[in-house]
Amino acid sequence: MSVVVEHPRCIREGDSYVYRFSVAVDDLRRDIWFESNVELCPGNLNAALPVVLFPSMKLKRDVVIQGAVSDKLLTGSGTIQNIFSTWYKEYTVVNVSAELTCRDDSGKKGVACFFTAGLDSSYTLVQNFDEITHLIFVDGFYDHRKGNEQITEAHVEHLRRVSERIGKPLVEVRTNLRDLMDNHGIWGDHNHGAGLASVGLLLAKHFHKIYIASSHTYDVPLPWGSTPLMDPHWSTESLTFVHHGAEATRVRKAAEVSQNDVVMNSLRVCFGALPNCGRCEKCVRTMIHLKIAGALDRCTAFLTKETVNPEYISRLYIKLGDVHTKAVFDENIEALKRTGKHPELVEALEDCLNGVYRKKLRGLPKRVRNFFRRKILARYLAAGEECRG
Ligand SMILES: [Zn+2]
Repeated sequence: MSVVVEHPRCIREGDSYVYRFSVAVDDLRRDIWFESNVELCPGNLNAALPVVLFPSMKLKRDVVIQGAVSDKLLTGSGTIQNIFSTWYKEYTVVNVSAELTCRDDSGKKGVACFFTAGLDSSYTLVQNFDEITHLIFVDGFYDHRKGNEQITEAHVEHLRRVSERIGKPLVEVRTNLRDLMDNHGIWGDHNHGAGLASVGLLLAKHFHKIYIASSHTYDVPLPWGSTPLMDPHWSTESLTFVHHGAEATRVRKAAEVSQNDVVMNSLRVCFGALPNCGRCEKCVRTMIHLKIAGALDRCTAFLTKETVNPEYISRLYIKLGDVHTKAVFDENIEALKRTGKHPELVEALEDCLNGVYRKKLRGLPKRVRNFFRRKILARYLAAGEECRG
């Protein structure tokens, strides 16, 4: 049995444009929908291919698309499968067929960038500021969990203000595609690049190029859902996806972003709070980047900057042993060492990575340990939990 994609339809609902298609697996049928403030009526099923590709590989089922798909995208999906199945052995290469193949060459002019106001997408925006005409935000990708609606609404409002200030219209998209994709993979590790590609393909009527900001540098060869190896292969004849920023560490990204005060002061790196809480690991690490760039004093994006001190940093709650966290800590440590300034921060970052504070707690009598856990550690844990969303 195959995974079947069918029944694409476009609906206008008030000021919103809605696009739907159905995915059938055995007797189960699921509707995937997208809603936007710009027109969505692609006339093909390109956007469905990234949504179903990895789930089908995991299920070891061929894909049958009952509609038109770009010839180039169909070829690219084969390359993507080859890369992905090399990284993740539980995913196997499957056959993808479409009722029709087409050339997508409608000659549009816009250039967009997926934008959350995080450090990665802010760097991509600043680096390509004159070329980028629009920003795209996808509601349903980042603060996905139920109960996060208020956070998402505040985030969207923030992005609307940023888009007005810099004069680049915000394309807003909402989608339920994670309802399907999350059942067959992990968003960051496997699916988020495909999710972005799906939304981008749906907006192909408006853009000939869309930037996807990198999470990692070229020298971090971790399997990941969006990489310079895979992202370009989601392109069609007339829409090119560019994976951007893998040449720059976060320290360098912060230095570049700090050249544009509006973008720097609009940074939104904290998943749990807006403005940024200034207390969680993501906030503190970003403030250290800005300190290295000499820009922290004039940055207004954080509720507090007093946490950039050795005592707080050494006790910061992090997931010990996590390779992603270690990679970003190492960037700060190496950059600080290069400047020769702030050896106390280097030591604090190394202590934090090595869990020195937590080991010290382990050596205390249980009663005292519990006191510290309740009164002090709980505060850091709360900040960490809050800000991981
Ligand atoms: Zn925070």
